[in-house]
Amino acid sequence: PEPLLQTPPAPGTGRTLRVCALYPDLMNIYADRGNLLLLQRRCAWRGIGFELTGAGLGDAVDPDAHDLFYMGGGQDRDQALCAQDLVDTKREAIHAAAARGAVVLAVCGGYQLLGHSYELGDDLLPGVGLLDLKTVRHDGKRLIGNVAIEVELPGLDGPRVVAGFENHGGRTHLADGQPALGRVLKGHGNTGESGTEGAMSPTGTVIGTYIHGPLLPKNAWLADWLTQRALGLEEPLAPLDDAMESAAHASAKAAAGLS
Ligand code: GLN
Repeated sequence: PEPLLQTPPAPGTGRTLRVCALYPDLMNIYADRGNLLLLQRRCAWRGIGFELTGAGLGDAVDPDAHDLFYMGGGQDRDQALCAQDLVDTKREAIHAAAARGAVVLAVCGGYQLLGHSYELGDDLLPGVGLLDLKTVRHDGKRLIGNVAIEVELPGLDGPRVVAGFENHGGRTHLADGQPALGRVLKGHGNTGESGTEGAMSPTGTVIGTYIHGPLLPKNAWLADWLTQRALGLEEPLAPLDDAMESAAHASAKAAAGLS
């Protein structure tokens, strides 16, 4: 398929971040596509090439052709369109990619589809089972608002804060032993009660989270960490002038009620 977006690497560097967006049209609530644009801009500013391929309904996925797989959030009805297709046409490829260390990042509805299932009343949407969790649609109120969590990722010098916005009806229950992405500081998180938010593989390279905002523009440090892992680099990426990104992070934290 033709790339949706492509910028070449700076001459002589030759490195390119190859991203596959799963269902870029159907799974893009709250402009989650902004996460992809942020990855592209930060690569371009550093002379790293960027290539974005979309995989929609019925499209097969090559597990070796991408360094990072991305799926945004969606309404229940859009998720229902994607869920079976994801299992039927993409499940094996996503597992194979994750097993070789590719990054998988999924937000909200996409996060729910990385688990075993999403129970919606009488319907049970299947998930790909990359994370050991289940989601159940709750009759009660939606979990909506600004959110801030504390996360610890391999290779970072200490805990960091991820801040953003959540809006979900589903409650996600992690199996015993399934690491959360973080600990809720403000907001609801996975169930509104568990104190956990999101989920990740032990290496941190498979991440699911309820945080929109979009996630990465408000947490540029996380974008850089994911890009470093996706490219298999030992060293952190060169720093950028992040004055605006830091201000966005501070304002997202403040909106959630953290100073
Ligand atoms: N439809 C899902 C829910 O309400 C996910 C929503 C979203 O992606 N924001 O739980």
